[in-house]
Amino acid sequence: MNTDSGTGQKKSEEGFDRLTPAYHPHQQEKQPPCQADCPNCGDIRQWIGVVAQRGKLGLSDHQAFARAWQTITDVNPFPGVLGRICPHPCEDRCTRTGLDDPLAINAMERFLGDWAIKERLPLRQLSNEPRREWLGVVGAGPSGLSFAYQMARRAYRVTVYEAQEQAGGMLRYGVPDYRLPPAVLDAEISRILDLGVELKLNTMIGRDITLEELRKRHTTLYLGLGAQQGRNLGLPGEDGPSVWTGTDYLSRFNNGEKIDLGAAVVVTGGGNTAVDAARCARRTGAEVSLIYRRSMEEMPAIQAEVEDMLEEGIELLLLATPTRLQRSDDGRLENLVACRMALGEADSSGRRRPEPIPGSEFSMPVDTLITAVSQAPVLDGFEALDHTGNWLSTDQLGNVSPGIQAGGDMLKLGIAGNAIMQGRSAAEELHAKFQGRRSDGLPDDPRPPVEPQQVTFDQTPTSTPVRALKLPADERIDDGRAEVANTISEQQFLREAKRCFSCGSCMGCESCSMFCTSGCFTKLTETGPGMYFSLTLDMCKACGKCIEVCPCGFLDAYQPPVP
Ligand SMILES: Cc1cc2nc3c(=O)[nH]c(=O)nc-3n(C[C@H](O)[C@H](O)[C@H](O)COP(=O)(O)OP(=O)(O)OC[C@H]3O[C@@H](n4cnc5c(N)ncnc54)[C@H](O)[C@@H]3O)c2cc1C
Repeated sequence: MNTDSGTGQKKSEEGFDRLTPAYHPHQQEKQPPCQADCPNCGDIRQWIGVVAQRGKLGLSDHQAFARAWQTITDVNPFPGVLGRICPHPCEDRCTRTGLDDPLAINAMERFLGDWAIKERLPLRQLSNEPRREWLGVVGAGPSGLSFAYQMARRAYRVTVYEAQEQAGGMLRYGVPDYRLPPAVLDAEISRILDLGVELKLNTMIGRDITLEELRKRHTTLYLGLGAQQGRNLGLPGEDGPSVWTGTDYLSRFNNGEKIDLGAAVVVTGGGNTAVDAARCARRTGAEVSLIYRRSMEEMPAIQAEVEDMLEEGIELLLLATPTRLQRSDDGRLENLVACRMALGEADSSGRRRPEPIPGSEFSMPVDTLITAVSQAPVLDGFEALDHTGNWLSTDQLGNVSPGIQAGGDMLKLGIAGNAIMQGRSAAEELHAKFQGRRSDGLPDDPRPPVEPQQVTFDQTPTSTPVRALKLPADERIDDGRAEVANTISEQQFLREAKRCFSCGSCMGCESCSMFCTSGCFTKLTETGPGMYFSLTLDMCKACGKCIEVCPCGFLDAYQPPVP
């Protein structure tokens, strides 16, 4: 006897042991690996499946795209945005990596986002039943807007208060246009407003309206203030002209302000803000160096953005940190002094702690320093709420106090997907409460994860994933706002969808029913990804063949209870 890698069941030298009842099949939908690390987990397999299987489902391309888009927007009203900027951990986990290359899930999401904008698809309203409650949201970043969207589609009255002239938060004032064109952001925001969300711009809570007044006006509040304050380094010589925080510099750059940075710019930090600040500075014609105290492996910035940055001619100085700035007698910035670092033990973030190497100081000429090491929320006017330093204290579900919820970067710096998920989670919790139901936040996925060996691709030919075309680096620098990568075509999207293995869910390949000699599988008339056959075991010979041939890992071996 040996063990079948797919089912973990014993099989005889000739094949499956036909007498052992352990080989009855059982249809078990499983959690695909692509969804395991997604912060705002949409049903990725479902939206790709509906397109890949559109022929079996009797859907036109248009209908399949619309359904796929709707699946995404049930959890994320910003597919055009996240399809451009999400670090896409889904692709890192794609089973396809075991054969060739992961599916280009992020590029596919972007395609659907752009397609729906072109088609002017509205977001789906879940209820038209009028509600009594009036909800206030502070901050029109992705978190506040996600909350507003989820409540407005359930027919609640929602008003969003935003300090800036335009909505979008860091998606507008942080992420540069060459990664996220404002037209895409505008289109996805206006679709949320079309659900009846009221947006009050240029209204800073804590300055124009007090928290107390707002509290009285609305049934409940959701706070999505983000983390607007860039942190300084506290270095000797830092106070004075020509030193910017990354968020301050980017916000002005994105507003179209012309800032003279001089010829030599140094940016310090290793996250997306640092990389974006360096790339924007490069687009002003300056020579730019990015200095980061850890190694490339520990850089939190999206890897592909770091690669683009290097292509654009930005120097990357790893394992080094600024120690002081030297200024001329009239206060002009002249040199940055830095020292080399070595990596020690892991710190609380799990990354190895950088430690200065004694006697390793060096200096470099600098006209402008941009510090992009961290950000913190600005809680002016919110001091009455429980907080530790600049960070608001909440319970696990983001509840600050009765009637006040919070989410996004103001709780912990993160990515847009996380901010959107927290807005959705708070909305679902609040809606449940209004309905008299208890909610403990977004439910955990009850489905077991599919094991890699359950998905079989021995017979699948290798293929290359689609790659979005990119502007050559010199053209990106010349036209500072031109988008770097383009959207894949419809044909590319359709081809890519076919590469999905549908891990853990039936894709209707019919192998099980073709190999079954007992007629256990009956085709369903109402089909959908994961739903193509019903299964009756009355005539099952327990041969286990269907389990063996199922390429998706959807069928499990099942031991019927002994009567
Ligand atoms: C430069 C940069 C690049 C980034 N790149 C990426 C990326 O590539 N991928 C990714 O996933 N994430 C990226 N992020 C992170 C992402 O943008 C954030 O995680 C996300 O925007 C947080 O959403 P939020 O709604 O919590 O806060 P924000 O987006 O900061 O929005 C908060 C909003 O609240 C408003 N506000 C604040 N205080 C008040 C007040 N008192 N009254 C009224 N309004 C107020 C602000 O003006 C702002 O509009 C990046 C961030 C930056 C800064």
